[in-house]
Amino acid sequence: MTTPLFPLFADLQNRAVLVVGGGAVAARKIAALLAAGARVRVGAPRLEPGLQALAEAGAIEHLRGEFIPAWLDDVWLAVAATDDREVNRAVVAAGSARRLLVNVVDDAELSSFQLPSVIERGALQIAISTRGAAPMLARHLRETLEAQFDESLGALTALLGKHRRRIRAGLPDLVARRRWFERLLAGAVPRLLRQRQPLKAERALLTALRGNREARSVGSVALVGAGPGDAGLLTLRALRLLNEADVILHDRLVSAEVLALARRDAERIEVGKQAGNHHITQDGIHALMLEHAQAGRRVVRLKGGDPFVFGRGGEELEVLRAHGIAYEVVPGITAALACAAYAGIPLTHREHAQSLRLVTAHCRDSEDRLDWTGLAADRQTLAIYMGVAGLPHLQAQLLAHGRSATTPFALIENGSRPEQRVITGTLAELSERARTHDVVSPALLIVGEVAALAESLHWFGAAPVTATVASEATLSAALRTAA
Ligand code: SAH
Repeated sequence: MTTPLFPLFADLQNRAVLVVGGGAVAARKIAALLAAGARVRVGAPRLEPGLQALAEAGAIEHLRGEFIPAWLDDVWLAVAATDDREVNRAVVAAGSARRLLVNVVDDAELSSFQLPSVIERGALQIAISTRGAAPMLARHLRETLEAQFDESLGALTALLGKHRRRIRAGLPDLVARRRWFERLLAGAVPRLLRQRQPLKAERALLTALRGNREARSVGSVALVGAGPGDAGLLTLRALRLLNEADVILHDRLVSAEVLALARRDAERIEVGKQAGNHHITQDGIHALMLEHAQAGRRVVRLKGGDPFVFGRGGEELEVLRAHGIAYEVVPGITAALACAAYAGIPLTHREHAQSLRLVTAHCRDSEDRLDWTGLAADRQTLAIYMGVAGLPHLQAQLLAHGRSATTPFALIENGSRPEQRVITGTLAELSERARTHDVVSPALLIVGEVAALAESLHWFGAAPVTATVASEATLSAALRTAA
């Protein structure tokens, strides 16, 4: 068994530290030391240009030449960052003779102190060490952890620091204080800081301290976009909220892969609505959100794609606002953006399309209110969210309003998921090809010149099922339907 290292956060403000070596490695350590307020002396025959500039600006002191023990006079710590092990060894030896701790970069064996991998959020620092055994593992963990912690934790640390005495005085009993903190950290204060409302957050903290109302846990709802399916398209904010959720109300469209990332003990409730087969009404969803939030839980309302694009997110916020429930909104990658990217279709293009329209043609009602003349205009891309059932009507209307029968389309089924399929063709063949290939929901339709680019630019999953040249027969049949 190796003896563990003693973790230590050193205050180097205005304290002299020696760095031996003037190259890129030394420069990285010097940047970290300067950030901690240390007075850095760097000893080396030559400095790399960045360090040279710092020395000229007086930000660091340059000791020119080969290492001599006298460089260690008056310093608190030393770092050896040369690529010559003998020099590094000499620094360690001279340091030990003076009871100084010396780090040798990437050399755990010679080092008497080591530098951890650090995650920083303001004054909050999380340090990771493997005792030099596996620096790559430490780096990997650091990256993983970076994703977990919201940037606003820095502000939270500062706020708690500011009121530390007051909190201790108000809650002298340790057990009571701990319980109070747990509620506080699950409540409005961190959320308000995420929302960049520091004054409200401070007010909420002080109210909670006065021990009344806010001391009980306050529920809230986060309306979160889950993206199109590929879990890699989730935002960091979405991931963090999924990690904190007590209850997740999710749509049917949200992929299992995304749900797997949520906190294990969060209650998951599917509130999926299928076109034509609404097994829970929108009012039912509202009632569930209110019930859980009013019981003090952190609710994540998880929606496919983006909550504000054909997601009825607006209605849900109106209900929350009317009932005084706090909320936040996290955008997601909407199907149009994801399907286009994963099919290799740029939605705008200098030569073919200067605008993009997101359209829903979900049911007869919405189709009939559409501006078909505008939609049939050329030099634009249409991204149509819809039930596959509406395709013949859509095709007929676009043709009838003058969109060319040779306009390319791409139908993207299960965009961004492993089973993604892309069917391409021309507007004349749209519904026939959808039928032939048995396209099912969820599918997104892209109409416009850019759709043809899928054939050359595709990169994800199976290659597009490309167009055959439209036969005279399909063309005239389509035109007849349109008439
Ligand atoms: N809020 C969602 C859209 C909900 S409407 C968003 O921003 O993406 C549902 C429609 O979205 C589906 O009928 C389909 O047209 C489209 N859709 C959602 N996910 C999809 C996916 N992975 N692939 C293709 N289309 C998708």
